[in-house]
Amino acid sequence: MAQAHGCLICAGSRGDDELRRVEVWRDPLWRLSTSITAPVVGSSTLEPLRHIAHVTDLDGEEAATLGAVLARVARTLREVTRAELVYVNVFGEHIAHLRFDLAPHRTGDQLRGGPAMVDPDASLLSLEKLGAGADRMPAAMAS
Ligand SMILES: [Zn+2]
Repeated sequence: MAQAHGCLICAGSRGDDELRRVEVWRDPLWRLSTSITAPVVGSSTLEPLRHIAHVTDLDGEEAATLGAVLARVARTLREVTRAELVYVNVFGEHIAHLRFDLAPHRTGDQLRGGPAMVDPDASLLSLEKLGAGADRMPAAMAS
């Protein structure tokens, strides 16, 4: 299995110790670990066993299986924690190994979604700037 030298996630249990988490499930392509230092029960990370740096590098069997695996993991986390929904974030900073951070959420817990993820001083971009990005996507996706 391809591993990136120095990648904390590819380091397996040694990386888990440093990241303060425990592995709770794996299959031939994916592994799920749950945090032992988190603001809510069930905060977990789904990541490919193979070193894939970012979501923009996702390919192969991991790309083909992601949807089913992510849905199964999120559904199971919701059931086990009795959460209302499960937040899923993909950031890609700090450690260049693709991972999906899943956080079961219930009203009144310590998580804040939506606007809380944006700088409180952020301003909305102009329609012209927003449209420039959206205008290029259809042709780019068709190619
Ligand atoms: Zn890695």
